[in-house]
Amino acid sequence: CKIDYLPSGDLLADRVILVTGAGDGIGRTAALSFARHGATVILLGRTIAKLEAVYDEIEAEGLPQPAIFPLNFEGASLKDFHDMAETLDKEFGRLDGILHNAGLLGRITPFEQYNPELWEQVMQVNINGPIWMTQALLPLLTASKDASVIFTSSSVGRRGRAYWGAYAVSKFATEGFVEVLADEVEHLGSLRVNSLNPGATRTAMRKTAYPAEDPMTLRTPEAIMPTYLWLMGPDSRGHNGEKFDAQPAVS
Ligand code: NDP
Repeated sequence: CKIDYLPSGDLLADRVILVTGAGDGIGRTAALSFARHGATVILLGRTIAKLEAVYDEIEAEGLPQPAIFPLNFEGASLKDFHDMAETLDKEFGRLDGILHNAGLLGRITPFEQYNPELWEQVMQVNINGPIWMTQALLPLLTASKDASVIFTSSSVGRRGRAYWGAYAVSKFATEGFVEVLADEVEHLGSLRVNSLNPGATRTAMRKTAYPAEDPMTLRTPEAIMPTYLWLMGPDSRGHNGEKFDAQPAVS
C-alpha cells in the first residue's frame, strides 16, 4: 500500500496509458489523475456519454489530449481487440500502461440461485475480455521501454466469501492470470504485470454491494490514487507479479 506516496507532477509525462471502465468510479478518477501527471490517456468503456464527459474534463484542464475508445466487454470479439491494437498502433505505436479497471458486480446471491447467464457475463467482463484484449495489445506493450499493466482485484479475489459468486471467482482468476503473465514477461525487464486491490471505495458498485453502508465512511477514488500512480509510473519498476492494496485493509 502506497497511500502516502507523493508523485511528481510529471510522473507519467509522455506515457500512453489505456484505462478500461474510464467513464465512472475509480477508472474515471484514475484517467483524470494519470492525465494530470502528464499521461496521454485512452478512455475505454461502454457508455460513450460518460467517456465524453471525462474527455471534456481533461481538455478543459489543458492536459494532454486524450482518446476515446468505446468498447463493451460483453460481446466484444477477438477481432474487436485486434482492430483496437491496429488503431492504437497507428496512432501511438506503443502502450506504456494498461489499467484493467472495468468490472461488473453481478449479484450477491446464494450460489444455488446464481443465474448461469449472469455468471458468464461477469466472467466475460471481469476476466475473459481483459485477457484477450491484453493478448492483442502485447506487441504494443513490448514496444514500450517501461510498461506497467495493472489488473484490478478485490479482497474476495484473495479469500472467497459467501454469496459473492462469479465476481469473487473472476477476481481469483485475475490474480492467477497476473502470476502466469508476469512470469512469462519477467525476462523482458521492460514490462511488469501486477494486481491491485482498491479496497472499499466510494463508488456506485460499492453502494450496490453494501446498500446499508454509509458511503461517507469510505475513502473516495481520489484518496486511493497514490498507489495507482506509483504502480503505473517508473517508481514501481522491478515489481512484477505482485499483489498490491491501494489502502490499508478495512472490511
Ligand atoms: P463502478 O461500477 O463505479 O465502475 C465500473 C466501470 O466499469 C464503469 O465505468 C463501467 O461502465 C465499466 N464497465 C462495466 N461493465 C463494462 C463492460 N461490459 N464493458 C466496458 N466497461 C464496463 O465500479 P468501481 O469504480 O467501484 O470499480 C472499479 C474496479 O474496482 C472494478 O474492477 C471493481 O471490481 C474493483 N473494486 C472496487 C471496489 C470498491 O469498493 N469500489 C473494491 C474492490 C474492487 P459504465 O459506467 O458505462 O457502466
